[in-house]
Amino acid sequence: MKITKNSKIIILGSGPAGCTAAIYASRANLNPILITGTNIGGQLTNTDQIENWPGEINDITGLDLMKRMHKHVCKFDATMISDNIISVDFQNHPFRLTGEKNEYISDSVIIATGSNPRYLGLKSEKIFKGKGISTCAICDGFFYRNRNVAVIGGGNTAIEETLYLSNIVNKVYLIHRGSTFSAEKILVQRLKKKIQNKKIIIYFNCNVKEIFGDSSGITEILVMQTNPKILTTFKIKISGLFIAIGHVPNTDIFLNQIETQNGYIKTMHKEHGNFTQTSIPGIFAAGDVIDHVYKQAITSSASGCMAALDAEKYLANLL
Ligand code: FAD
Repeated sequence: MKITKNSKIIILGSGPAGCTAAIYASRANLNPILITGTNIGGQLTNTDQIENWPGEINDITGLDLMKRMHKHVCKFDATMISDNIISVDFQNHPFRLTGEKNEYISDSVIIATGSNPRYLGLKSEKIFKGKGISTCAICDGFFYRNRNVAVIGGGNTAIEETLYLSNIVNKVYLIHRGSTFSAEKILVQRLKKKIQNKKIIIYFNCNVKEIFGDSSGITEILVMQTNPKILTTFKIKISGLFIAIGHVPNTDIFLNQIETQNGYIKTMHKEHGNFTQTSIPGIFAAGDVIDHVYKQAITSSASGCMAALDAEKYLANLL
């Protein structure tokens, strides 16, 4: 039988945004409940080396950083519960959340359920995850200094990642399945300027069919060109493959409850604070679930902090 737990504030997600929100909420004596979800620690647990967490000058693995954040959460009066929320009722106050294990009733909620990068769906992708395959050039580009890499995609992220990488690596192959880019014109113009110095090579109408490598990581990819009508395949020697075909925000259970835009939760961005309030007062959101642009641990933590401060004000006004 499911137990019902009551709280002033419930935080959904155990990634950087959820943990930071929990630390701030517990230090404000709100005794938050943090629900971990199935991916305990969030996306960072999938990466071996974090080099851009300020103050952490010796490289740390994503898993270790998240373990430390969880210890930090537990240092204060926060309760961390391993459960996954499957449905919510935000139309009545207090809010009700149904988990796989328990029911929850809360005066306020911070949604920090993050997003998941899209992958190609190749079996070899799993083998080389963290060993040459990346979904974040800003996070991992530095590890490929002076080497050859490929970026897959044709939207803003793919072009931005290509431009970013071209300042670090030896050569970037941009592989796009379409014949034109869907990215903003200004980005495409910047790309065209960079092509002239041969640092960037573009392949249109192409799909990556296979990824090859050894114990040290990726060595080459097999690419299939589908246009003109004859199919051709060729190999490219690379050390890193950056997949930039989008992210899927974890918002399915909120879609009929609060306002979203392209699947991401909309926040109000009011002039005088309350940046993280959603379309429903008392429901706040933070981290990658509201952000299709920056998608970094530090930006997620920052908005987790803001969400906790906004929730604290909301709860103070409820009394
Ligand atoms: P997430 O980390 O995605 O956490 C979401 C949490 O929500 C999870 O705990 C999940 O279990 C939970 N959840 C989801 N649905 C539910 C539900 N229904 N009920 C309850 N809980 C739920 N950023 C950097 O700054 N530096 C790096 O070096 C870096 N490297 C990266 C490497 C990789 C491979 C990837 C994928 C990302 C990397 N990032 C890096 C980006 C960084 O991981 C994300 O920006 C950050 O984790 C987002 O934090 P978040 O808390 O918003 O969400």
